Amino acid sequence: MSKIAILERKCTGCGICAENCPFNAIDMVEGKPEINAACKLCNICVKNCPEKAIIRLQTKAKSVDKTLWKGILVIAEATGGKLHPVSLELIGKAQELAKNVSFDVHALVIGSGVKDIANEILHYGVKDVAVYDDPALSFFRADVFADCAEDYINYIKPSVVLIGATSLGRSLAPRLSTRFLTGLTADCTKLLMKNNTDLVQIRPAFGGNIMAQIVTESTRPQFATVRYKVMDAPIRQDKPSGEIINRKIPKKVFDSKVTHVNTEPIPAGKSISDAEILVAGGRGLKKEADLELIKGLAKTLGGDWAVTRPLVEKGWAPPDRQIGLSGRTVKPRLIITCGISGAVQFTACMSGSDCIVAINEDKDANIFSVAHLAVIGDLYKIVPELTELLQNGGKYEAV
Ligand SMILES: Cc1cc2nc3c(=O)[nH]c(=O)nc-3n(C[C@H](O)[C@H](O)[C@H](O)COP(=O)(O)OP(=O)(O)OC[C@H]3O[C@@H](n4cnc5c(N)ncnc54)[C@H](O)[C@@H]3O)c2cc1C
Repeated sequence: MSKIAILERKCTGCGICAENCPFNAIDMVEGKPEINAACKLCNICVKNCPEKAIIRLQTKAKSVDKTLWKGILVIAEATGGKLHPVSLELIGKAQELAKNVSFDVHALVIGSGVKDIANEILHYGVKDVAVYDDPALSFFRADVFADCAEDYINYIKPSVVLIGATSLGRSLAPRLSTRFLTGLTADCTKLLMKNNTDLVQIRPAFGGNIMAQIVTESTRPQFATVRYKVMDAPIRQDKPSGEIINRKIPKKVFDSKVTHVNTEPIPAGKSISDAEILVAGGRGLKKEADLELIKGLAKTLGGDWAVTRPLVEKGWAPPDRQIGLSGRTVKPRLIITCGISGAVQFTACMSGSDCIVAINEDKDANIFSVAHLAVIGDLYKIVPELTELLQNGGKYEAV
């Protein structure tokens, strides 16, 4: 881990660093440079500073003996008295990964009144479920949840820790990986396990132009977050197996400076991630009103509708209707894409759907590489005809 630091005693405030920074990552504040969040650690300021007042600090994690870190830990999410379904999807993936290297799969639940949830997890084939249960953990506070997770990770030393890429997980995972000075890959779309227990964490990178394979070669644990609906949950077994391990709450939890004042629950809306049938429209639609074609087909099929990012950017649809890396991940039984080219930022978040039907007039469109059924033609002709066909119960008179 690295950062750029400015040595105040040497800095003369000449501003050369700010002038030369290609990322506008240096602000001159009251005559002194300050590094902002745009810093890409390119080192240009370090090389250009005439006073040698800018340095790059490097915290190098020590290599660990990988054989001492065994098993896969899934941090299950149990806020609001409910188990988040991503937790089960992660357990399913963990079981698959564990087979290659004969690891056990462990789960961890942190919260208040979460014993029933822990018992429920025993129906999904984990070796054990560790529980930190205390009224002090009623609401998610990143520091105290991290304290409990850190305590358990130190205790069982897992090789891999999987966390849902939810709001909670996105707050918890980086804190933990920093505490252990190890790697974290966010929003993985695929995970593979090497024989030497290195986890290959695959996700789109550089604006989706490549699928990066990221490996934490010399440190442990290996932290990865995965979004809801990317992996498959295992089938629930009638008979529970494994044991519950009740853990003592670390003392630090009661010294936290973060106080919970109030919680205002946001009414849970319907999410396209939960839809079984989806019809999605893209830039092949010429005007906003044409979205009615998409909504009409979705309604006829008893499903929901969604869009690509350009349509959200045009203001034709709200962001929660967007499929993709900067939107939602979906995995319906059926998705029909209409006038969508199939950019990786879109397909990475819908290619796990059971049946993909793509309508596009360009026979070379990338969407056809993930589609199970390719319909090459004009959506303005095909979508109304298909809707009519379905409304007539399958009876269709070709003209
Ligand atoms: C960091 C980053 C994150 C991104 N995140 C997302 C994201 O979350 N979601 C997302 O969707 N995009 C995202 N994008 C944008 C993405 O790269 C594409 O630009 C976008 O997905 C393209 O949307 P589209 O397929 O609707 O439009 P286009 O690429 O313009 O495709 C339109 C398609 O419609 C077809 N067509 C045109 N007329 C008709 C017709 N009459 N009948 C049939 N077919 C027709 C064309 O042949 C074409 O293939 C992201 C980009 C970046 C850099």
